[in-house]
Amino acid sequence: MTKETIFTSILNGKIKCDEVYSDELCLAFRDIQPQAPTHILVIPRKNISSLKEAEEKDINLLGHLLFVGSKIAKEEGLENWRTVINTGETAGQTVFHLHIHIIGGRDMTWPPG
Ligand code: AMP
Repeated sequence: MTKETIFTSILNGKIKCDEVYSDELCLAFRDIQPQAPTHILVIPRKNISSLKEAEEKDINLLGHLLFVGSKIAKEEGLENWRTVINTGETAGQTVFHLHIHIIGGRDMTWPPG
């Protein structure tokens, strides 16, 4: 069973967020601990723990999240940005509700730590 997370509370309005975009499939808001001048999270309204749990029926939703992330990045004035999906604890995932990080506004290095 999928557990509720802090993002569930953001989606149902119990916890406030700095919203930047909302539609019937997803919500986007500023990360509370930004790692760059622009750091936005795009999350599906559907409770999916991580990319690992996404199913074939979620393909359109996954594409939607990526497209919305790109749209927001451009609206934020970014020309370059990084789209990150941490999947699993040792990959850095701390909130187990699928989310896409849109990070930009500074130079970045590769590989990530
Ligand atoms: P991850 O480590 O990939 O699971 O990313 C989770 C992100 O959620 C982190 O960057 C946190 O700073 C962010 N975060 C946690 N709680 C909140 C919150 N209440 N509002 C906004 N961002 C949050």
